Amino acid sequence: MTPTKNSIRKSGVKIYLAKHCGFCFGVKRAIKIAKEAGVKYKNVYIKGELVHNEGVCEDIEKSGIKRADFLNKLPPRSNVIIKAHGEPLETYEKLKAMDLNIVDATCPMVKDIHKKARELEEKGYQVVIVGDRNHEETKGILGNIKNGIILENKDEAVRFQEDIKNKIGVICQSTQTLENVVEVINRLARHAEELLFINTICNPTRLRQREIEELSMRCKAVLVVGSKKSANTKRLYEAAKKINKNSFWITSQYINKNNFRRFTSIGIIGGASTPVEVLETIAGRLNETYDFSSHRRRKIM
Ligand code: SF4
Repeated sequence: MTPTKNSIRKSGVKIYLAKHCGFCFGVKRAIKIAKEAGVKYKNVYIKGELVHNEGVCEDIEKSGIKRADFLNKLPPRSNVIIKAHGEPLETYEKLKAMDLNIVDATCPMVKDIHKKARELEEKGYQVVIVGDRNHEETKGILGNIKNGIILENKDEAVRFQEDIKNKIGVICQSTQTLENVVEVINRLARHAEELLFINTICNPTRLRQREIEELSMRCKAVLVVGSKKSANTKRLYEAAKKINKNSFWITSQYINKNNFRRFTSIGIIGGASTPVEVLETIAGRLNETYDFSSHRRRKIM
C-alpha cells in the first residue's frame, strides 16, 4: 500500500479511501424504515433530522416525508418517525397520548444503550453517561432512566463529583472516543467505592476510529467528510488532527482540487451518515484515475 515515487508521478496524488466508510448499519436501517413508511402511509413526519446529513434529509423530504419540529401541530393519527439517535421515554408517551403512530427507526445499538442504562439503575448504580450534553442520542439515553448524569469530559467529572454517588455505572454515547471516556473514569474512580464501566461505543465507530489513526499516519493529508452536526465526524476529525496537521473537515463533495495539489497522498474517510458516493466523488476529483473497483473489492473482503 505504500506509494512509490513512480506510482505518484504517473497517477498524480495517491488516494487512500477508508475501508470503513459510507453509512453505518444504524443509518442504513433508519433510511430504509423511513422510506418504507413513506410508501406505506400518507401523513409521515420526522421529529428533527433522521440522520445528520443534509443530502440524506433532503432526499427523505423529497419522498414526501415532512419534518415536524412541533408534534402538537400534527393531524391526528399521523405517523411519526423516531430518528436513528433515539428519543427519551417521554416522547413515546407523548406520541401515544396524542394518538400518533410511532415508526421507530432508533438504531438497535442505541436501544441497547438505553437497556443497559436502565439495568444499571435498577441495580442501584448512579448512571453516568459520557457524551455531548446537547446531542440527541445523549439526551435520549438520559431520558430513558430516572436519575442519570451527563459528563462531557474529565473536567466535568471533577466539577460535578459532589453530585455523584459512590456506586457508579458508566456508559457512553455510541460515538465517543475511548480516550475521553477513560479520562472521565479515571477522575470518577478517585471517589467511587464501586465503578462499573460498560463500553457502549458502537462497532462501526470503533472501526472508523482505528482506521483514522492509520490513515493519518500513512498519508500526507486527511479529508474527513461529514456534516458539522455529526458527532462521529467531529471526533474522527479531532483524532486525525492530533496525528496529522494536514487534516481537513470537508462538508460537501464540491472541493477545490487546487487546495490539495501539494499533497502526494491523501486519505479520505467519512462519518457514519456520509454516503460512500460522496467520498468516491471527492476521490475522483482529486485523481481522475482513482480505481474504485479496488476499493469495493477491499470493502467486501
Ligand atoms: S453510529 Fe453506531 S449507534 Fe449510531 S447509528 Fe451508526 S451503528 Fe448506530
